[in-house]
Amino acid sequence: MSVLPKFLPLFTLWCLLQASSSFANPYEDPVVQTLNTGSEYSKFNPKLPPRTLSSSKKFEGSSDLVQLRYHMGPVLSSPIKIYLIWYGKWAQRQKLLIKDFLLSISTSDHRAAPPPSVSDWWRTVSLYTDQTGANISRSVVIAGEYSDLRYSHGNQLTRLSVQQVIGSAVRSAPFPVDHRNGIYLILTSEDVTMQDFCRAVCGFHYFTFPSMVGYTLPYAWVGNSGKQCPEVCAYPFAVPGYMAGGGPGALSPPNKDVGVDGMISVIAHELAELSSNPLVNAWYAGEDPTAPTEIGDLCEGLYGTGGGGGYVGQVMKDKEGRTFNVNGRKGRKFLVQWIWSPVLKACSGPNAMD
Ligand SMILES: [Zn+2]
Repeated sequence: MSVLPKFLPLFTLWCLLQASSSFANPYEDPVVQTLNTGSEYSKFNPKLPPRTLSSSKKFEGSSDLVQLRYHMGPVLSSPIKIYLIWYGKWAQRQKLLIKDFLLSISTSDHRAAPPPSVSDWWRTVSLYTDQTGANISRSVVIAGEYSDLRYSHGNQLTRLSVQQVIGSAVRSAPFPVDHRNGIYLILTSEDVTMQDFCRAVCGFHYFTFPSMVGYTLPYAWVGNSGKQCPEVCAYPFAVPGYMAGGGPGALSPPNKDVGVDGMISVIAHELAELSSNPLVNAWYAGEDPTAPTEIGDLCEGLYGTGGGGGYVGQVMKDKEGRTFNVNGRKGRKFLVQWIWSPVLKACSGPNAMD
């Protein structure tokens, strides 16, 4: 459900593995493998230190470990209308970047966004269906925006007070309550803290309570971690201090904004899960519905072929060294994590080499 910075407690174990000669040391061969393909970008296989040992790779070849089940609830099969809530101070260029990502989901014209594209990435999400066989919609639009410039509920939010933020937004004309096709995406600026942010979550999704908002509305929250914990929530554009010593360091973000480029992958993760489990009774693994493992969780930290086991996987690098794995509209490039495919029973992304 949430994007969890779960590699931190595993650091001790990781140290033990580093000390053992039977395990390959990722620092031994920090060679960046770059193939000149003659195109605008090159393949890039960054050997970053392990982010987590319980990574997605173990699921890739052994689907019996994953018991992803459908629990009979709805998925977002109608055209998806996103209502954006900008909480706090946002620069125009940051807003445009995030909006270009969201609008790229529906940009299926390959001249506008060549493959591998954001739209190709969403195709994996759209493979999920409800009881009637209806797929998750491939149409995603931004239906409205609301700016909460004055931090209406302070700069320290909780899982409950974020619902009050939505409540304030939907009570203000002309921002509507759309309980048919609407989902609400609350993005907090880098000076806003959130309960469990950086320690347990980088983003989460849920639905609002009628007692707080008046309706049951699916929503997701994602925070800008740029100042608070980029090494946790904007990984691999920032890496923890203990990793920076002998390794190749952080990857260069595709749009030169560590916080916002890091948010994009978290937004992608939460949108995929919100669409496949909007009321937390559709697609998830595990027996406990209060702590579901969803279609993004299964592939966290995995961005390309060969990823897992702590590696990002094979991604691309442009002429200026910025890393990405999908193309978006207006020539934009983004790095987004892979998603669990119900067809392949493995993590899948449009930049797969095989
Ligand atoms: Zn999740």
